[in-house]
Amino acid sequence: MTAYHQMSRQELEKEKSLLDAAYAAFQAKNLKLNMARGKPSVEQSDLSNGMFNCLSSTDYFSEDGVDCRNYGTLDGIPEMKRIFADLLHLSPDEIIVGGNSSLAMMFDNVSSNMSHGVRDGIPWSKQGEVKFLCPSPGYDRHFGICEYFHIQMIPVAMTETGPDMDEVERLVSSDPMIKGIWCVPKYSNPDGIVYSDETVLRMANLKPAASDFRIYWDDAYAIHYLYDKPATILNILRECEKAGNPNMPLIFSSFSKISFAGAGVACIAASRSNIEFIKQRMAMQTIGHDKLNQLRHARFFKDAQGVLDHMAKHAAILRPKFEAVEEALERELAPLQLAHWQNPKGGYFISVYVPEGCAKRVVQLCKEAGVVLTGAGATYPYGNDPHDSNIRVAPSYPSVEELRTAAELFCLCVKLAAAEKILSE
Ligand code: PMP
Repeated sequence: MTAYHQMSRQELEKEKSLLDAAYAAFQAKNLKLNMARGKPSVEQSDLSNGMFNCLSSTDYFSEDGVDCRNYGTLDGIPEMKRIFADLLHLSPDEIIVGGNSSLAMMFDNVSSNMSHGVRDGIPWSKQGEVKFLCPSPGYDRHFGICEYFHIQMIPVAMTETGPDMDEVERLVSSDPMIKGIWCVPKYSNPDGIVYSDETVLRMANLKPAASDFRIYWDDAYAIHYLYDKPATILNILRECEKAGNPNMPLIFSSFSKISFAGAGVACIAASRSNIEFIKQRMAMQTIGHDKLNQLRHARFFKDAQGVLDHMAKHAAILRPKFEAVEEALERELAPLQLAHWQNPKGGYFISVYVPEGCAKRVVQLCKEAGVVLTGAGATYPYGNDPHDSNIRVAPSYPSVEELRTAAELFCLCVKLAAAEKILSE
């Protein structure tokens, strides 16, 4: 029950006229702010400017003596593989270094399984209507991949410890057309949830009806912490090995929000046997990825510890931004019980649940006052939030000052939408 519900109609109408006036004052400010996507700020990109100067016309050899200007080395230079391996607690021969985008590697993997099957099995697309489990709210671009390939998306609820595993186990074990699940195990997009040990263990011990079922383990925010140090979770590949499912997980990660978004380095990690299959396909696609960029990263960061130290600098920039939004939510919305949210310890988003039926209206009101948010519903398969409640706020790009203003407007719009809704009932 919200405080607004406890007001008389007259009291609420009075409150709404005050909110209308405050909203008009915001519109007069002609704001132009964007909290729609998790883009690193200019200041964050500046942290990696040293990468422009860390190679030279005489320094372009990888540690095994390969000339990085030329063709060769399909799966990545050793120093870059080692950095990924150390960060993900895996072995270098379980890693393939790719191009700049992990999303492209996920898309490609799904595409390959659709057209050619998993490890030379029957192509998914020839087996019937392919389905994926989509823990929701989740990452809109994962859902975009499914839509593109006409993969039916089955939403599964997210809990504070990860996807609802009762539901995941029940569905995966009963339907052989369920071929995959999207997971963002650390600081999930958008809720910032970290999977518990129990969740990882149950995921690793799944008994899928489909022998070609795959876990898409998107570790996009593996080390993207805001406080102290990254959360630790169980190692999905090792747990899958112990459970007799060594080939089930496909792990993805990238430097997009470590060095430069758009000019980072991505990887896929998997069992050695999976790696061999993936390399065979990759050999048909490319003679090799950009080794100079890999070398730049290796020179700049030196090793995994260098990357972690660098992440502390990102955290120092991001933390006050998250806190500016959280403070506004706590001050403006918590007393009225108009929203709930997690205070994430890492990642790029604050995922706010506004009263049912209000999310679209809040996003519209914010837009009409100059603040662009992620479209309401985008965090659910087919853009359909059944409760029209979740809004993903991305606080990374604007300045702290801008965020304070934007967050104040956001809270005002939540109040306005809630008041409108109650008055219309
Ligand atoms: N996965 C998740 C969960 C993301 O939030 C993002 C956006 N940064 C990506 C993947 C995209 O990663 P990349 O830039 O490596 O394609």
